[in-house]
Amino acid sequence: MPHPSQGDPDWLTEGASSVWRPYCQMKTARPPLPVVATRGSRLTLADGRELVDGLASWWTACHGYNHPHIADALRRQIDAMPHVMFGGLAHEPAYRLAARLAGLLPGDLDHVFFAESGSVAVEIAMKMALQFQINRGVTGRTRFLAFRGGYHGDTLATMTVCDPEEGMHSLFAGVMPAQVIADLPRDASGEAALDALLAERAHEIAAILVEPLIQGAGGMLPHSPEVLRTLRRLADKHGVLLIFDEIFTGFGRTGTLFAMQAAGIEPDIVTLSKALTGGTLPLSAAVASRAVFEAFWSDEPGAALMHGPTYMANPLACAAANASLDLFADGTWATNVARVSAALAEGLAPCRAGRGVVDVRALGAIGVVAFDAPVAVGELCGRFAELGAWIRPMGKVVYLTPAFTTPDEDLELLTKAVRTVVGVA
Ligand SMILES: *Cc1c(COP(=O)(O)O)cnc(C)c1O
Repeated sequence: MPHPSQGDPDWLTEGASSVWRPYCQMKTARPPLPVVATRGSRLTLADGRELVDGLASWWTACHGYNHPHIADALRRQIDAMPHVMFGGLAHEPAYRLAARLAGLLPGDLDHVFFAESGSVAVEIAMKMALQFQINRGVTGRTRFLAFRGGYHGDTLATMTVCDPEEGMHSLFAGVMPAQVIADLPRDASGEAALDALLAERAHEIAAILVEPLIQGAGGMLPHSPEVLRTLRRLADKHGVLLIFDEIFTGFGRTGTLFAMQAAGIEPDIVTLSKALTGGTLPLSAAVASRAVFEAFWSDEPGAALMHGPTYMANPLACAAANASLDLFADGTWATNVARVSAALAEGLAPCRAGRGVVDVRALGAIGVVAFDAPVAVGELCGRFAELGAWIRPMGKVVYLTPAFTTPDEDLELLTKAVRTVVGVA
């Protein structure tokens, strides 16, 4: 157990041997930073230091922390009804939210199934796709086609559609059912290769699953909207469903409200989570098109989707999501994303000259410095914290995904911290 340092709060020292931390070899990792409060774009640590948050807490807190409009909605909802089960009961926050999401999503993505985490929403989307085929009387379509560089969650089924080599789950290779993993069709020859693969294997594939416009946790790897139009064409040609995992990209992160809007096409199912509640409570959704939904609409009880998480459509989380959507209504977010994008592109550009840097890129409110080898995550987190920034690299990339509302001076602090650590400041 790494020894806590002097001045750490009691709860940190006392709980350290009981908490199992995420994504971390606890024996050798540095101790986590104790946070006692958040506000706007900043975290306050137990020793009183403030850090500018470069990640918006894993891409969730898009409006910044403690937004008063979301806080008010939560206070009202907690007094009225923190939670009720969703089986056989209905409540306004969920019904209003479902109708609003259906209205905001393009096309006929109108049928909203709620869950509590991103991984579970992807599991539900996968289950919908499998049962869609079964309900139509199509047998043998039991696999998914997913892409190298992809990330769709940490549960057992979602691990199988993550990148098989680079992902966090190569340890379990061989344990889980094998899916079909391909390269994204980035050009005409890529399209021909995927078309050929589907000609051979489409009879065993229920759906294609992809993160539209940018693969997030797999390394912040962008692709052109044309790739998505190609996938739509190939899915239609070979009779497989197309699932967009917009858990990272949804709610403005890439510059349009949903990444699919940059390509002008719609998937058959879309998954949403991360920024859905503006970074306040866990909530996710798998949203199906009319055609998918209609395959379940039947006199046959067995054709129903048998799923229902205990905390499904939690009223507090739905109230937070409704309040977050209110904040998207006036379009200020788009101006802010463009402002953040320009600041990240400009502030990170000098990193191109840094040692080991192979690429610097910005897409929407995402800024990326990519290296030729994996970076020392714990050590870099420590250096960034000394510079007043909360930045946690991932694999071979140092990236920034700040709140859209982050003030210019805080964006400058973030990019300067990256320039300093890259050695170009
Ligand atoms: C984060 C993420 C998930 C998993 O969401 P959890 O809430 O962590 O389960 C799935 N897909 C994408 C694209 C993500 O970014």
